[in-house]
Amino acid sequence: MPLGVVMKGIGGFYYIKSPSYGIVECKARGIFRKDDIIPLPGDKVSFSIVDTDKNTGLIEEILPRTSELVRPAVANVTQLVVVVAIKSPQPDFLLLDKMLITASIKDIKPVILINKIDKSTEEDVEKVKKAYENTGYKMFFLSAKTHEGFDELMDILKDKITVFAGQSGVGKSTILNRLAGSVLMETGEVSDKIERGRHTTRHAELFDLPNGGLVVDTPGFSSFELAGVELNDLELHYPEFENHLGRCRFNGCSHINEPDCVVKEAVVNGDIDNERYERFVHFYCMLKKQKDQRYRK
Ligand code: GDP
Ligand code: ZN
Repeated sequence: MPLGVVMKGIGGFYYIKSPSYGIVECKARGIFRKDDIIPLPGDKVSFSIVDTDKNTGLIEEILPRTSELVRPAVANVTQLVVVVAIKSPQPDFLLLDKMLITASIKDIKPVILINKIDKSTEEDVEKVKKAYENTGYKMFFLSAKTHEGFDELMDILKDKITVFAGQSGVGKSTILNRLAGSVLMETGEVSDKIERGRHTTRHAELFDLPNGGLVVDTPGFSSFELAGVELNDLELHYPEFENHLGRCRFNGCSHINEPDCVVKEAVVNGDIDNERYERFVHFYCMLKKQKDQRYRK
């Protein structure tokens, strides 16, 4: 049975992209509704062809999801590109770290995209680079205005399902429009669909790039509360802590007030960025407060 990826769903019809049949308009089998599962963009499905002339079909099965986002509602996202502007707006590093933690919890690979480099000085760029170089997260630099860095962005999107996120004003729409534009130019199609949909509530869609990458056409969360992380697991979502964990004097060290804490030593000698660490403390205290409140209730 042919396999494909759901690109979008509209009014009970799903548009499946499949290597051998192109875009197939499918309905879903009734059984999904009974199980309370509806196909989402990004779902891998098997389908049968109902009408070869009209290229219509029926979704037979939804394959297991590797991830599921709620806002936007997309399945199997493999990559989160967190967009940060080097200037205007000033980078919100608390939000950036929250997004990195969230991606880590959901097992989605995060990438940090620093936009608006046409506005930046060497010094601005170095500061950001330094803060995150020990995290191991891939970081790259772009100007959506001058298009510097777009080739590298294309490479990063290859063969993945990517959602863009980041605070308002950092350039997400500009980047998405340019990516979609390059697709439209290639197919010779003129469409204002993506632009039009940006500010209205509607379902997310995927669009495909010439290199096989799939991109969610609507930006993800721009701000949110840190949720779904256990207090004692917070440290696991800091890749630059990894080599130090388990070596503190106290078992279950929170790396905040305890003596002989290897994490704090690493902050002092510069192996861990001081501001990253301070934001860790901020999140830790916030989660602890939430936990204490839950117990008191
Ligand atoms: P969004 O809220 O993240 O979707 O941000 P937008 O795409 O709407 O961009 C916000 C503003 O920043 C717009 O005026 C864009 O033209 C501008 N902008 C986006 N990318 C760049 C860039 O690389 N350099 C400069 N100078 N301005 C940019
Ligand atoms: Zn410690």
